[in-house]
Amino acid sequence: MFADLAEQLRIREQKGLRRTRQIIDSPQASHITIDGRDYLAFSSNDYLGLANHPELIASACDGARRYGVGAGASHLVNGHSAAHHDLETALAAFAGFPQALLFSTGYMANIGMVTALAGREDAIFADKLNHASLNDAALLSRAQFIRYPHCDLAALEQRLATVQARRKLVISDAVFSMEGDIAPIRRLIALCERYHAWLLLDDAHGFGVLGEQGRGSLFLPENTHSHSHSPNLVYMATLGKAAGVSGAFVAAQPEVIETLIQSARSYIYTTATPSLLAYALLTSVRLIEQDEWRREALQRNIAQLKQGVRSLPWKLLPSNTPIQPLLTGDSAEAVRISQALREHGILVPAIRPPTVPQGAARLRISLSAAHWPEDVQRLTDALHELASA
Ligand code: PMP
Repeated sequence: MFADLAEQLRIREQKGLRRTRQIIDSPQASHITIDGRDYLAFSSNDYLGLANHPELIASACDGARRYGVGAGASHLVNGHSAAHHDLETALAAFAGFPQALLFSTGYMANIGMVTALAGREDAIFADKLNHASLNDAALLSRAQFIRYPHCDLAALEQRLATVQARRKLVISDAVFSMEGDIAPIRRLIALCERYHAWLLLDDAHGFGVLGEQGRGSLFLPENTHSHSHSPNLVYMATLGKAAGVSGAFVAAQPEVIETLIQSARSYIYTTATPSLLAYALLTSVRLIEQDEWRREALQRNIAQLKQGVRSLPWKLLPSNTPIQPLLTGDSAEAVRISQALREHGILVPAIRPPTVPQGAARLRISLSAAHWPEDVQRLTDALHELASA
C-alpha cells in the first residue's frame, strides 16, 4: 500500500538523514534523563532556566484550578479568558507596543501574521537564513517571494528599489536560529522607512535574553535611539524558549493586531492555548523582567565557552547570543563529534544541510542560565579530548 513511502524512507535512512526522537523522562533542565541515563544538555532553548521553575509550576497549577485545563474553544468563540487578555496586555507593555496578540505557537504566529498581512499583490523580501516557518508563511501568502543574501542590506535595497508591489514587507529573524548572529535591526528599520516597507521581525531567540530587562532585540542599546518603535514594525516573539512555557505573540499598532484578529487563519481556526499556560506566562514575564542575574549568568557562560574552545581545530561562528555554533564544515565530522559527546553524557545536536548551507555543518551549542561553570568546563574538556583523539 505505502511502498513508495517505504522506499523514500529507506533512501533517507541510507543517506544518514533519518530524523529521530528520544524519550525524555525528566523535567527540562540543564541535566535531563533519557532511558534512565543522566545527560548534560546543551540542546534546549530554555535560555533562562525557567522551564522547570517552581514559581511557574505553581502558577500553572493555580491557573488550572481557576480556568480548568482546556480552553474549550477558539479565541473568537468562547476560549478567550482573562488570563489570555492580561497576558496580551503585559506582553504589549513589556515589548513596547500598543497591542499584542497571543498565538498557540511561534510557527502558527508566523503563518498567521504573514498570510494576513501579505497577498498576491504584495512582495515579501526575506533573509536567506530566516526560520522555516517564515518561509512557509511567505509561500502560503502567495505574495512575490524575494530572498536576499544573509544580512546583505545593499542587496535588499536594490530589490526594494526595483520590485513593484502594493505592499512591501521585509521579513527577518532578529537572532538567526542556526547562526546565533543578530540582524542589523537599526539599519533594517531605516531602510524600510525609506522604501515605505513594513518590517516583520521574528525575535524568537532574543525575547527574554537580549536588551534592557530582557525586553528583546529592539531594546539592545544600538536599537533604542527613540522612545517608541517605528510604526512600520511588526514584532513577533515566542514563549517556549526564554519564557520557558509555550506559545508566541505578535505586537504592533492596533490596526495590525485587529487585522490579525479578523483574518489570521491560524488564530481564528484553532482552539485557544490553555489558560493555565497564559497564567504561568504572566509569572514568566515578571521573572524575565526582574531576574537580571539570569542574563548575567548566561553572558558568563557564553564568555567561558568562547574562552574554552579557542584552541580547538573547530571554530565558533561569531555570536554573542546563547546560540553558539561550532563549525565543522563536514557533516560526518559533526555527527561523529555529537555522538562521541553523547557517549560522554553530553548532548549537543549536529546540524547538517539542508538545515544549514552545504559544507557548513556544525554543532549547535545552546547555553542557558541554568548551566553552572563546571557544566561548561565539562563540555570544553570533552571537546578538547575529542580533538586530540
Ligand atoms: N521562529 C524562530 C526563529 C524559531 O527558531 C522557532 C522555533 N524553533 C519558531 C519561530 C517557531 O516557534 P515555536 O517553536 O513556538 O513554534
